[in-house]
Amino acid sequence: MAKTANQAENAQLKDIISHAKEYGFVYPSSEIYDGLQAVYDYGAYGVELKNNLKRLWWETMTRLHGNIVGIDAAIFMHPTTWKASGHVDSFNDPMIDNKDSKKRYRADVLVEEHAAKLENEGKEDEAKALTAALARLLEAEDLAGVRDLIVNTGIACPISGTTNWTDVRQFNLMFSTQVGSVAEDASTIYLRPETAQGIFVNFLNVQKTARMKVPFGIAQIGKAFRNEIVARQFIFRMREFEQMEMQFFVRPGSELEWYKQWAETRMNWHLALGTPAEKLRKHDHEKLAHYANAAMDIEYEFPFGFKEVEGIHSRTDFDLKSHQEFSKKKQQYFDPEINKNYIPYVIETSIGADRLFLLTLCNAFTEEKTEEKSRTYLKFHPAIAPVKAAILPITKKDGLPEKAQEIVEMLKYDFNIIYEDAASIGKRYTRQDLIGTPFCIAVDHQTLEDNTVTIRHRDTTEQERVSISELHGKIAEATSFRRIFEKI
Ligand code: ATP
Repeated sequence: MAKTANQAENAQLKDIISHAKEYGFVYPSSEIYDGLQAVYDYGAYGVELKNNLKRLWWETMTRLHGNIVGIDAAIFMHPTTWKASGHVDSFNDPMIDNKDSKKRYRADVLVEEHAAKLENEGKEDEAKALTAALARLLEAEDLAGVRDLIVNTGIACPISGTTNWTDVRQFNLMFSTQVGSVAEDASTIYLRPETAQGIFVNFLNVQKTARMKVPFGIAQIGKAFRNEIVARQFIFRMREFEQMEMQFFVRPGSELEWYKQWAETRMNWHLALGTPAEKLRKHDHEKLAHYANAAMDIEYEFPFGFKEVEGIHSRTDFDLKSHQEFSKKKQQYFDPEINKNYIPYVIETSIGADRLFLLTLCNAFTEEKTEEKSRTYLKFHPAIAPVKAAILPITKKDGLPEKAQEIVEMLKYDFNIIYEDAASIGKRYTRQDLIGTPFCIAVDHQTLEDNTVTIRHRDTTEQERVSISELHGKIAEATSFRRIFEKI
């Protein structure tokens, strides 16, 4: 029987998940105890890839922009932070349970997924009407209305197939814990659900000590925690994840201009990294968060459809103003150019390191089938590939391993290099393909005579003979972030 498009997509995601596990990228957390839902660990190659992505983002922000600096704020923050930010009162998702399957869903996601299905079936008007109705009901916080919409549209539970739904309830996504060793002294604090607030509460510290003038930005990479109702789709939606956020402080009135500019800059970043334009799209928010006057997502076409990878939000002066009110400390900036005090407006760019990782993996996962052979490889941009080159003596004898080790010694201070001398050369090439190593360097008997080696290129499998003295320059040229930076 022919597979439906949906089944094929799921099969592709399954292949990617098992590849990630088998070749040392991502494992379920505490797997020996059967894992912990929506929590994952990164393996030997996964951590290298993730670090490269984080470093690329960090350097793009802090090196390419003279007016952006970084910070590293703590995960724990004073609990009033989350009162001021609105998270205590409104960081909720609407949840709904199916009484027959006992499965829990996010009510808004159920409707959005149904709308996406309608769109795929060519019923675009119906899909639009459905998402617009959802946006209206959420805006009005009409949870009974959301339930009616689900029931009246006939949206059934994918497990039980029934529309026997409970009421829709709000669920706060923040994790809380206690600080203080004695129960009476203990107070409830939260694991931060976003890194942005660590930037806002440090706005004046950074502005003064790094002597920044508006417009300027503060960038941060760090863990965030959300008790997601439905945790599915691998590392797309996790309960513990990493965010890379940049808050850009601007003069009030100029924010929409900056918003447009950052939306374009961030889209160019994704394109420069090699993500095909047809797999990326912008999606303007219909329902704006309480703090925003404009918001959009950059979406990528994952095997399970177009989904958000990065958010770009014009957050107005909401956060700084609110922190000023709650802390009773002025959060103003004196602008010498116009001789005025004001609370800056903020443009935020916010991307999940793990979602970017999944995008990168999906994008790189390549299966080639010809009549003679099939090949699977990860086509990472060389600048972010976990391993840059594998040094492979073709036999374990005749002094070839020693010669290969000399090459390792020459390259290892600047590049992540693997040395391998077991198994046939073909098998070793295959293994490097599976972890996405762009260059395999074979050391053979000719190497001993004329100091040349063979470079085998991952994407084409073509081989070229080069002298050892050229290796460093060639790898440096191909793997430099500069090649990405120049395209942004
Ligand atoms: P979603 O609608 O998918 O829940 P969101 O709009 O709540 O996401 P933001 O609060 O804007 O997301 O967070 C910014 C970015 O952080 C997202 O674009 C995404 O890349 C990442 N992110 C958010 N939640 C998660 C999560 N549970 N797991 C992994 N990454 C996440």
